[in-house]
Amino acid sequence: MNSEDRLLSREEFLGELRKGKYDAVLTQLTEKIDEEVYDAAGPQAKIFANYAVGYDNIDIASAEKRGLMITNTPGVLTNTVAEHAFALMLAIAHRVAEGDRFTRAGKYVGWAPMLLLGNDISDKTIGIVGLGRIGSRVAYHAVKGFDAKVIYYDPNRNADFEKEYGAVYKEKLEDLLSEADFVSIHVPLMESTRHLINAERMAQMKPTAYLVNTSRGPIVDEKALVGALKNKVIKGAALDVFEEEPRLAPGLAELENVVLTPHLASATEETRAAMSRLAAENIIAALSGETPLNIVKI
Ligand code: NAD
Repeated sequence: MNSEDRLLSREEFLGELRKGKYDAVLTQLTEKIDEEVYDAAGPQAKIFANYAVGYDNIDIASAEKRGLMITNTPGVLTNTVAEHAFALMLAIAHRVAEGDRFTRAGKYVGWAPMLLLGNDISDKTIGIVGLGRIGSRVAYHAVKGFDAKVIYYDPNRNADFEKEYGAVYKEKLEDLLSEADFVSIHVPLMESTRHLINAERMAQMKPTAYLVNTSRGPIVDEKALVGALKNKVIKGAALDVFEEEPRLAPGLAELENVVLTPHLASATEETRAAMSRLAAENIIAALSGETPLNIVKI
């Protein structure tokens, strides 16, 4: 175990792997797992178990060529991340973080009818980009909790979901963007989703719309987002993930119409315990000669 209360540097991580001759390695999304890491770990290593559902930090193709198993932690964090997406959505629309800063700064001098007016989520149109596990859970809350209308964009259409939640499929992302009052991103980071939300796509959104990203930072062009927020191309954004974590795009932190959390969408006591357990179970299965539950394939 990394006994330091900090991330290991690349050199430290590689050095520990070379020394340890481990059969299994439990990895975090902050570590890039590639050929150099596989070489450092040595030929006895059988499995790299990622402590995350996303696995954009791992070179899966090289692992497959080497016969290495890669696993992730799907499902156990779905509810928590969906809750966080709503925490962000509520925070930006109801100006919670801004109101907190305002109150602490001693600026609250009395109730006023126009003070820090926000927007409702109820009865609005929520656009889900990526209707997988987390996206569907966000859609569930939107419909069941807020009587909102759900529209979604995903390469896979889900007729059962549409029927159950009255959700409407959008074949083109631009159609979702031009209709949604809130756009919530839930796609994995892949080459095809890098900068999926760029300046052009932001311009297709309503000027009254909010963008919420709890998936991976590079899916949104963060510099373009700073411009869009400054120039009121869109009304606001709420982000849990950033393009070059832990750094923020210049100007982002100075904006009032954005809510920022430090990649903590799955960070509850319950969920982090479940993720640890699942990652460990995947390792135990692999080392017992069984097929782990959550093998990732290309
Ligand atoms: P999932 O695989 O169940 O869902 C992903 C969905 O995206 C699928 O339905 C897929 O068809 C769809 N998709 C793929 N490419 C797309 C595209 N180009 N356009 C639209 N849709 C596309 O995954 P999940 O469990 O719901 O997790 C989603 C992502 O959330 C993860 O990959 C991870 O990166 C991110 N995540 C972030 C945190 C966090 O702490 N902020 C925590 C958990 C997960």
